[in-house]
Amino acid sequence: MTEKLPPVRVRFAPSPTGRTHLGSGRTALYNYLLARQTGGQFLLRIEDTDQKRYVPEAEQELMESLRWLGLEWDEGPDVGGPYGPYRQSERKEIYLEYAKQLIEKDKAYYCFCSPERLARLREQQMQAKQATMYDGLCRQLTPEDALRRVKQGEPHVIRFKTPREGSITVRDYLRGDITVENRTIDDYILVKSDGWALYHLAAMVDDHLMRITHVLRSSEWLSTFPLHGHIIRAFGWQEPVFVHLSVFLKPSGKGKMSKRESAQLLQDGYSIFIKDLEQLGYLPEAVVNWIALMGWSYDDKTEFFTMQDLIEKFSLDHLNPSPAAINFTKFDHFNGLHIRHLSVEELAKRVKPFFLRAGLQPEDTKLLQIAPIIRERLVTLDDAVEMAGFFFRDQMDYEADLLVGKNMNPSESLQVLQESYDLLKNLAFEEKETLETALRNLAEQKGLKAGQLFGILRIAVTGQSVSPPLIESMLILGKEKVLERIQDALKRLQPIVGL
Ligand code: GLU
Repeated sequence: MTEKLPPVRVRFAPSPTGRTHLGSGRTALYNYLLARQTGGQFLLRIEDTDQKRYVPEAEQELMESLRWLGLEWDEGPDVGGPYGPYRQSERKEIYLEYAKQLIEKDKAYYCFCSPERLARLREQQMQAKQATMYDGLCRQLTPEDALRRVKQGEPHVIRFKTPREGSITVRDYLRGDITVENRTIDDYILVKSDGWALYHLAAMVDDHLMRITHVLRSSEWLSTFPLHGHIIRAFGWQEPVFVHLSVFLKPSGKGKMSKRESAQLLQDGYSIFIKDLEQLGYLPEAVVNWIALMGWSYDDKTEFFTMQDLIEKFSLDHLNPSPAAINFTKFDHFNGLHIRHLSVEELAKRVKPFFLRAGLQPEDTKLLQIAPIIRERLVTLDDAVEMAGFFFRDQMDYEADLLVGKNMNPSESLQVLQESYDLLKNLAFEEKETLETALRNLAEQKGLKAGQLFGILRIAVTGQSVSPPLIESMLILGKEKVLERIQDALKRLQPIVGL
């Protein structure tokens, strides 16, 4: 067992550029778990400095998705906190200030190269089969010259002055030391010509000012990680622990999920977007359990985890840096497990919106009776409607010839259905055993298998050939409704018999 950490300060720092998917959910989750486990803080920081890619609805979906998963943040744009603002678009001046500090330290410089020159340079480098990077033309300007041009209003960016010699070693918690030759690292832009800082500067500044101790982020940042090391060291700041999480691959394990594939997935009743999963009838508990295990494991056998279990058992040491393929079959399995873990009251509450959405009006008392008889069979909450919608429908919708029992003819079926009606009419709908025994005896008298009779009754009472246990369903529906439905079935059978 690994040692527990002192209280950490961690952050989830999404860019609101699109929908919130499973990968983001997992990054947020791991950060959250570490904060809760150590009694530290979990921050939400919105990285919205890229005005071109900004999607206004994204932030709301993001917050709703996190809250639905149960990942409440301690500091963030909406809840505030001592290190705000927590939206990068409100911190523009702070980044400029720090960029200027780097210039003063000779660790960054103004660059006036036009986009046309940069495009030409790139073209030449590509033709010469060289790495495409800035050639450092503006590194040679004297600070006085550069400042003069800035004051004259000449368009410019601020670039990091990456050392030309030597190498840098940065440490990823999972992968160990990563050493890179400095000459292979570009003079990355820190501040664009419109005055907005880029991630490389903004995130390092914020992590420092917000006292972040551990950075758990996507491994797509590994390639620029050495630059981040340079920036932090140029300021002389203490480095947080960096943990680059494994990437998610599509179910086939071949590459990342594309937009088109995501759309296709929805047709099969799955999605990589967290908000969709809620609509599809998945439990947040199951999503959390499932994504927690995509890149982390406790031991080789335990698979069921509640949020509380995860808070207790999560550890950075058991993170797996290899890519994880999304497995929706596993997801269904976890959803079933967590559905069966819910109390009857809770399950009744959670399925209710799905009935309402289907235009049905379920009574709470009925839902409480139904929950235990469907719980074992549900994969998603939405399945409850298909399975138990008949409790709340006025009209049954089925083909009349389904009322003809297996290996029976219409007239035999009609007769036994009529006799069932007469029998049930005289029984109290209280004990399961009473109804069951009476119906089994009737089947026996008629020389039928119980299954043959129950098959006919199942169609008559539920309108479905597959349903929750029949007698229990009849008890919940109540005598009056059951008799009504059998009456209706008799009427449907008569024309088939030729009456
Ligand atoms: N805004 C970055 C992203 O969404 C955040 C990366 C990080 O966690 O530092 O990819």
